[in-house]
Amino acid sequence: MARYTDAVCKLCRREGQKLFLKGSRCYTNKCAVERRAYAPGQHGQGRKKVSEYGLQLREKQKARRYYGILESQFHKYFLMAERRRGVTGESLLQICESRLDNVVYLLGWASSRAQARQLVNRGHFNVNGRRVNIPSYLLKAGDVIALRTGELETDGMKNIIEVNGGRPGPQWLSLDAQAGEAKVLNLPSRDQIDAPIQEQLIVELYSK
Ligand code: SF4
Repeated sequence: MARYTDAVCKLCRREGQKLFLKGSRCYTNKCAVERRAYAPGQHGQGRKKVSEYGLQLREKQKARRYYGILESQFHKYFLMAERRRGVTGESLLQICESRLDNVVYLLGWASSRAQARQLVNRGHFNVNGRRVNIPSYLLKAGDVIALRTGELETDGMKNIIEVNGGRPGPQWLSLDAQAGEAKVLNLPSRDQIDAPIQEQLIVELYSK
């Protein structure tokens, strides 16, 4: 599967804000956005007048980077969101949020969405009692996600949980930390989604 392999901090600098792509480093003063708060590249510090289209494009790129989703998949999610009842932009974010890799990250079982994707790929989680190793698997209300037997006891997972376990989880997930199990209570409404994204700009871009 295609994936982005260049330096991820460049992506945050390009968007001009922290996208939290690198786990614990993002919370330290080593963060590249804090040290060099301008876009990467030779002309990164120049002033630019951004067109309406440019703004919409940047917002879409930011959303893709935040969730770690490639363009073709993201566009599919937009088409899916259009078919859903309700506000398209909110549905788009809801779909991105309900990906298994994103939920694993939100639960504190990974330091970043990239790490969550790796862990899911390696088959560390069950959904409704069955092993699922597809990071883009979309969860529904009522689904139960669990670490597979013995995973909670491994040193790797103990370290991850120690670092990330204190992160407040979202209201739409209920976590039983002792059992290494969580349930999707409902798909998140916009106010339950913490993403720094203006989804309306993405809808406008794809609707042109
Ligand atoms: Fe982005 Fe984290 Fe790198 Fe900072 S350290 S630029 S938040 S990926």
